[in-house]
Amino acid sequence: MKNKVFECAQCGHCCHGVATVSLTRKEQVAVANYLGIGEEELFERYLKRNGKRVEMQVVDGHCIFYGEDGLCKIHPVKPFHCRRWPLHPSMLHDENAWHAIKSDCPGFSDDATWEDVKRLIRERGFGD
Ligand code: SF4
Ligand code: SF4
Repeated sequence: MKNKVFECAQCGHCCHGVATVSLTRKEQVAVANYLGIGEEELFERYLKRNGKRVEMQVVDGHCIFYGEDGLCKIHPVKPFHCRRWPLHPSMLHDENAWHAIKSDCPGFSDDATWEDVKRLIRERGFGD
């Protein structure tokens, strides 16, 4: 049993799917700088437009930055939505969101309660 409310198990589940989180303009620049390439090349090789959103490309069912070792290739500059996950503020006011996210993420302790996760979200500054 884990004694923390949440500790990422690095299972990679949240980096898989048919779409990814979006990146702000500032985040795009940070990723380009981190990779040592220009923004045009970044877009061509790694990003895509989805309506008004800019997202990361998906290859083989996962984000293009998901590494074979199960780690994020752009960890130091990954988008805010990735850094915050799974401590999403929707859980502050919606117990069903807590149950849904908990069942999707093995990083939560089996004993973690809704009160625990709300406290953690606020402690980390992800609250509203
Ligand atoms: S689903 Fe949860 S435990 Fe798995 S990598 Fe994502 S945050 Fe970590
Ligand atoms: S940027 Fe990194 S943490 Fe975010 S979805 Fe892609 S591989 Fe996962």
